[in-house]
Amino acid sequence: MLAPVILAASRSDQMRRFVSAAPGTKQVVQRFIPGESVDEVVAVVVDAVDKGLEVTLDVVGEDITTREQAAAARDAYLELIAHLKDLGLGTKAEMSVKLSMFGQALEGGHELALANVRPVVEAAAAIGTTVTLDAEDHTTLDSMFAIHEELRKDFPQTGCVIQAYLFRTEADARRLAANGSRVRIVKGAYKEPASEAYQDEAEIDKAYVRILKILMYGEGYPMIGSHDPRLIAIGQELARRAGRKLDEYEFQMLYGIRSEEHLRLAAEGHRMRVYTAYGTDWYGYFMRRLAEKPANLLFFVRSMITK
Ligand code: FAD
Repeated sequence: MLAPVILAASRSDQMRRFVSAAPGTKQVVQRFIPGESVDEVVAVVVDAVDKGLEVTLDVVGEDITTREQAAAARDAYLELIAHLKDLGLGTKAEMSVKLSMFGQALEGGHELALANVRPVVEAAAAIGTTVTLDAEDHTTLDSMFAIHEELRKDFPQTGCVIQAYLFRTEADARRLAANGSRVRIVKGAYKEPASEAYQDEAEIDKAYVRILKILMYGEGYPMIGSHDPRLIAIGQELARRAGRKLDEYEFQMLYGIRSEEHLRLAAEGHRMRVYTAYGTDWYGYFMRRLAEKPANLLFFVRSMITK
């Protein structure tokens, strides 16, 4: 019941102002977004790699309204990659990007987003790593997949995300599994209409398993993005049945969520990549994390009251 309300609030400027100014917000935000600056996130990367984990880094921000903001987003990733260069981490630190932040929703947005993301993918490749295109709401996906295909012509390691809750995703998974793509499969975090997406959690889980099977038996590199213990166990079993070695798929989870499970999977020899978001424009990312687990909202409200 609460999740659709929180997701609707994630699009409201009034709520953005209210939440940003609320006492205690910063403390709760830090659970999911461990830093605002490049230096802070680089320290988190070093710590994660020391613990046997890998990371994918997201500069938070979306819903931009000008071409200048889109260029600034590109530059923020280029600055991040310049910092990572000195650490020589290779694919232990990848980038995740939202094309909306690169201008996808502006006039001429498809071309603009492609033009902005390309230098980031080039810079990532130059330091031995890669970029994954996050999946946003369903209206953005045709453009995202077209940009993914275009980038893969020069940078075949470029990844993309598919969302189990969408009806279209099984067909997308078949295409991506056949062409050898790196693909992160997630349940899906946006508010989608019943005409586009399963609304029932059990249906979403079943779809997730069907899609994961397609990826595991395909030619690409599956990235299992979930904290759900059942799906993680099914992922391990499917990988085994499909004869995949430990370096032929990976698990991904979000920073601040089930951290002990990150370490457990890494200790078992799995590649475990932690999606780590940082930056100042954290509102949309934060609200999606609240929507995923109503208990987070209670914690948030309590921290506001006790401040
Ligand atoms: P759930 O059933 O939601 O959660 C399983 C268990 O994990 C819960 O019982 C709880 O213990 C814990 N948990 C899950 N979420 C939270 C939370 N917010 N706070 C505290 N505990 C929690 N979605 C997109 O639409 N596009 C993307 O590009 C995208 N990228 C992602 C990248 C990664 C690496 C991950 C892990 C998720 C991403 N998501 C993305 C979000 C995803 O769609 C889900 O909303 C999110 O992962 C919750 O689903 P779940 O599979 O963890 O299962």
